[in-house]
Amino acid sequence: MFNYSPEPDLLDSKTILITGAGDGIGRACAKSFASHGATVILLSRSQQKLEQVYDEIEAEHPGRTIIHPLDFRTASAADFQLLAQSLDEQFPCLDGLIHNAALLGARSPIEFYPEKDWNDLMQVNVTAAFLLTKALIPALSRSEDARLLFTSSSVGRTGRAYWGAYAVSKFAVEGMMQTLAEEVAKTTAIRVNSLNPGGTRTAMRRDAYPAEDPASQPAPEEIMPVYLYLFSPAAWSLHGQALDVRGFQSVVPT
Ligand code: NDP
Repeated sequence: MFNYSPEPDLLDSKTILITGAGDGIGRACAKSFASHGATVILLSRSQQKLEQVYDEIEAEHPGRTIIHPLDFRTASAADFQLLAQSLDEQFPCLDGLIHNAALLGARSPIEFYPEKDWNDLMQVNVTAAFLLTKALIPALSRSEDARLLFTSSSVGRTGRAYWGAYAVSKFAVEGMMQTLAEEVAKTTAIRVNSLNPGGTRTAMRRDAYPAEDPASQPAPEEIMPVYLYLFSPAAWSLHGQALDVRGFQSVVPT
């Protein structure tokens, strides 16, 4: 695993929004980023889970967390614009955005893939990321050093039978990353990349591989060094890249 132990003030004065922050990898990002000084804005479907994450962070780092429950399956462009307006009133800019929320959906041949599941999954994994990005580009553009990270998967880089809408949605995420990276490269200080976390011990992993020994995969906390590094000044030159947690190497030696 990538070895990186930054100072606890790495993300001081940074404001970073994380989706899917109520559980799994997003929850670990929220706690890790807050413990390195960031103010974190946490989006997720379940208010109860978000409140729990809020309480855990607040107990150690008071005043660094805002929670915003939102179901991406039903959220409209107006919901994301309202969120952006509310953030504009509270912060001069946004320094980071992690698109992490996702549905796994059915594992089924495309021929039999349920249409409703397909549409719901595309809404959560792709359209919500598009709408949120669109709403937040102005705030990210005001930062002197912003990071936008899409969450990918190995099946978003090479297709795999029966992974249906999930695999296709992750290909779409890679496409959004590449397209946006080229658009903002010259006019903003936003660095855009995608990251494949690789197998990680979460509820989604359990759903995908029910027979697997959970202990065979790293806990979300163990992969946080890569996430922290990507939001550090050292990762400034990374832009438009499809990255992997497994085998991750720093741009400059840490
Ligand atoms: P989890 O299932 O543990 O967490 C997913 C998060 O997404 C939850 O917080 C969940 O919210 C949120 N979410 C799901 N549906 C919605 C919705 N409709 N609206 C808003 N939020 C929603 O998954 P992981 O932590 O494992 O996955 C995180 C990311 O990493 C995903 O993008 C996944 O594709 C990717 N990934 C994971 C791998 C793994 O092995 N774990 C491997 C490769 C990629 P709530 O808790 O409120 O329901």
